[in-house]
Formats: sequence, structure tokens, C-alpha cells
Amino acid sequence: MKKFYITTAIPYANAKPHIGTAMDYLYADILLRYQIAQGNDALLSVGTDEHGTKVAEKAAANGQSPQEFVDELQPHFEMMRQKLDLDFPHIRNVRTTDEQHARRVEEIWRRLDQAGLIYKDTYEGWYCVGCESFIPENEARAMNFICNDHQKPLEKLSEDNYYLAVSKYTAKIREFIKTAVKPEFRGRELLDLIKDGAKDVSISRPVDKLEWGIPVPGDESQVMYVWIDALSNYLTVIGYPENDEYRDFWPADIEIVGKDIARFHAIIWPAMLLGLGLELPRQLMIHGFINVGGAKMSKSLGNVVSPLEIIDEYGVDAFRYYFARHIPTFEDGDFTWEKFEAAYNGELANDLGNLVSRVANMAKKYMAGDLSSIADANSMSTTSAYLDNLQLATAIDDVWLQIQRANKFVDDQKPWQLAKTGESDQLAATMSKLVSDIRMIARGLLPFLPETSAKIDEIFGSDTVPDTIPILFPKKYLHTEEPSRK
Ligand SMILES: [Zn+2]
Repeated sequence: MKKFYITTAIPYANAKPHIGTAMDYLYADILLRYQIAQGNDALLSVGTDEHGTKVAEKAAANGQSPQEFVDELQPHFEMMRQKLDLDFPHIRNVRTTDEQHARRVEEIWRRLDQAGLIYKDTYEGWYCVGCESFIPENEARAMNFICNDHQKPLEKLSEDNYYLAVSKYTAKIREFIKTAVKPEFRGRELLDLIKDGAKDVSISRPVDKLEWGIPVPGDESQVMYVWIDALSNYLTVIGYPENDEYRDFWPADIEIVGKDIARFHAIIWPAMLLGLGLELPRQLMIHGFINVGGAKMSKSLGNVVSPLEIIDEYGVDAFRYYFARHIPTFEDGDFTWEKFEAAYNGELANDLGNLVSRVANMAKKYMAGDLSSIADANSMSTTSAYLDNLQLATAIDDVWLQIQRANKFVDDQKPWQLAKTGESDQLAATMSKLVSDIRMIARGLLPFLPETSAKIDEIFGSDTVPDTIPILFPKKYLHTEEPSRK
């Protein structure tokens, strides 16, 4: 049986991982844990894109070889995945500087070439030496043929490159976008980009312009330029082409990308797969960006939010909670410390933390901590439906509805009064429903808050409530003022 396969975009290894990469990892891990909880065998691929001029330049500026530079960055990506509590046994990492990746990419190039999809052509256009990149005619004209960043006139340059015949597959790419891209409004934007047909793309550069990369097979004068090297990672990491294991995983069930790189995954990548005679990914999930107080996050504005700082101060589940629930899954979202602490104290500490501690304490008081007579919980079918549809924020909203209902049930039933007036049947029924509901909530939370879900399970998952009940989310006011107590 085919295994469930989720991929994350491989970030460019010219800097430490940022919040965008953390979002890719978080979304992927939620979906991975959900699939595993459903009983599916699942794999998540992560990796880093380690070739290219910018890596080579940064390395040179540090007095390092490019390989030394990317090797030193790798532990930062690994640490980010650990801090985010990704489900490690089901994760496979690929680096584009891995020898095995390079050998597989060369074979992929050869196969695309044999399929008649690669041709050589001379590219002529405006070029900025400082940027080391070609500028399209219309953009060059708009900037008056002077590079804004380098304040230097653009040069007219021509060079020989290899091209991938993406245009050949326009009809199939359109079909792919219509069926696989989520959300639909992103699909419409992508269709608009190719309304006049998909364009062929340059897939190599002369070696004197781009040294740090995989050489083009059979042509020492050319080096692969990003696409075939980087996009192939989703295949090489599962063994394609020579290791038949890839057949257990391909096609990918969900590919997760940020909106900035959606077009490459929606247009160039399908063309490559079609050229290789492979099936296309079943879903391409495109998420937005994180703003801070409505402004774009940037180093120069000094408003960069570090996932590691949030995790170190509030715990990993607090990070996972805020970014899964309070960032709309398919749109740009906003972070401020005020919003974050309001969600932490109001929702995690109050709604969830209080529910768990009050029900645990009542179970000890009114049931002597004996849960042996309580039937197992129902499944959360509505939450599952949202997760199947990749609506992560809506899915966790749905779990929260159950938490709020359970809190209201406690307030309405007032078990302490039932105990006082000796209504023991009513009290037993009330407690039984509460424990059963909390077990269900723990299951619903599992993909989102794995640590918290396990803690709740330790309290309510067996026949006996443990002696000490941990406080799930101790209140914290590190960035906002603590409300004054009466
Ligand atoms: Zn420039």
C-alpha cells in the first residue's frame, strides 16, 4: 500500500532558518502527526538548498569554502526541527550537497534530456553584474536600465544556457493547478501567470558565472542552475530513480510551500515530473507570510520574531498553538506579543489548563480518582474533516469549541453542588461525560500540541488519576502587563 508522503520546501542555506521555514515545518508536522494518528504510515521530507552564487559569496566573505559554510549552518536547521518538536522517526533530511543527491540529480537531468525536454539556446538580455542576474526587458526599462541595488548601468549580455521545455506541458500544468492547488484563490493567480502559456526556463549557467553547483552531465562548461537541483529533492530523498523504495511514497500527497515559491512548484516542477513520466503531487498547499503588528518582518525594521525565543519562553506547544490557530492557514497572518500573550493566558492557561486541572481535581474528590468505569472517547469527526481539507486553523478552532463546551458544562452542572446535595447518579454521569470529553479533546489536540496531548493523556488516559496534576500552561506576562488582581 502506498505510504503517505508530505514534503516541505527546502530553504536556501545562506542564512539561519527564519519563521517562514518554521511555518513550513509546523504545518507539515501537524499533517504528519494527524496521518499517523489515523493509522497511516507516513513520511515527511525536509532539507536545505545549498548551492548557488549567494552561498559561495557568503562563504567567501567568511573566509570559508562553500561546503564549510553550509556544513556550519546545518545544525541550526536541525535544532529548529528539534525545538519545534517534529516527529523525528518519520522525517528524512536531504541536503543538495549530499553526494547521493547529486548523483540522482544527474540521472534526472539525463532522463529529461533523453525525453527531449532539454535544449541549448543563447540567452540575450539585460544583466546586472552586481546582482549576477538577468533582468527582464520590462523591468529593466522600468528601472531606467540602472540597477537600484548597485546603482550601476545594466549591461546587454548573452550567454549559452540549457533550457527546460516547460511550455510543452501547458495544458497539463493548468489541469494540475486546477485540481491540486490549495487554496483556490492561489490557483487562480497561478493560472493567470500562464494565461499565454507556460514559458521554458533556463536550467543552467556557464561555469564561470556559477561555480558552486552540480555540473551539467556531459558539458563541463555548464552548471545546473537551481531548478533541477533543488526541486528534485522531493524525489532524491525517497531514492528516485534507482532505489525502488520511492514507489512506496510517490506521488507526494501534500507538498507545502510559501506563496513566494508557489509558481516554481506549480509550473516548473510538474513539467519536470511529466518529463520523467511520473505522477504529479496530489495537493500543493500554499501558505502566506507572518507580519508583525501589520508590518512586514525585516531585519532593518528590527521587528524579526524568532521562533526559538518564543519556544524558550513559553514552551513549544505555545508556539505551535499560536501559529497554527491565530495565523489563517492560507493567508498572511499577524504576530504581536500582545496577541500572543492574550492567546497564551486566555486560551491555553484559562480555557484548556483550567479545564484539565479542575476536572482532574474533581475526579479525585468525587470519584476517588477511579476512571475504570468510563467508556472510551468518541472520535472528532469534524476536526478530521477540516484536517483532511488542510484547514488547520479551522480544525484547531473546532477542538477549542469542544473545550469551551466542556467548561460550560462544568459551570452549568456544578458537580460540587451535586456532591453537596447527594445526587450521586447525576454526579457520576456528569463526571463520566467530562472525562470522556477531555479524552476526546486530547486526541483532537494531538497533531497540534503533542506534548500537551500526552500530558492530558497521563492524567485521564488510564484507570487512575495520578496524585500530582501538572499545571499545563502557567500564566506568563513577559511582554504585557499582568492584569491587577482584586
Ligand atoms: Zn544589481
